[in-house]
Amino acid sequence: MGKQKYLEMNRFTVMDESFNVTVKNEHIQEINLYLKKTKINETGGILIGYYSEDFKTAHITMVTGPPKDSKSGPTWFHRGTKGLKKLLLKKWEYQEFYIGEWHFHPDGPVEPSPQDIKQMIEISVSRRYNCPEPLMIIVAGKASKFMLQPYILINGKECLPLVPRIDIVDGEIS
Ligand SMILES: [Zn+2]
Repeated sequence: MGKQKYLEMNRFTVMDESFNVTVKNEHIQEINLYLKKTKINETGGILIGYYSEDFKTAHITMVTGPPKDSKSGPTWFHRGTKGLKKLLLKKWEYQEFYIGEWHFHPDGPVEPSPQDIKQMIEISVSRRYNCPEPLMIIVAGKASKFMLQPYILINGKECLPLVPRIDIVDGEIS
């Protein structure tokens, strides 16, 4: 992937275009590295970013890996919290905030499971996160070939996909 392409931004939108999220190629490459590290177990982390002035677009500025106290198996992932408070306080100084989660379903569907939706609902009402409409990026497949799709939880219960769903093959968006 050339440097220009590496810096490119991918825009995803809900069907009625009322909300968008941007994900830079460099963040997709970072996710790809975490997938290479984990092999058969789920992995994930948090999304940090900021909202446009009209709150209609979330711009992702950082994707973390799994905090050290995370636990996972082939079909489950409990994201830990170690180090996140400190990181988020630091980001706050730059007006960047927690905006959601990402995780990997090895050889699984690129849709959130009932457990994933439950987690988003819990986050949406948690004072700790202060994020009433959390995002969740699901990646599914293998490190060498995976799909990526963001979702947003609105009204505390409705989980909507943002399109397009993209395919990444050998690190290239195809
Ligand atoms: Zn999941």
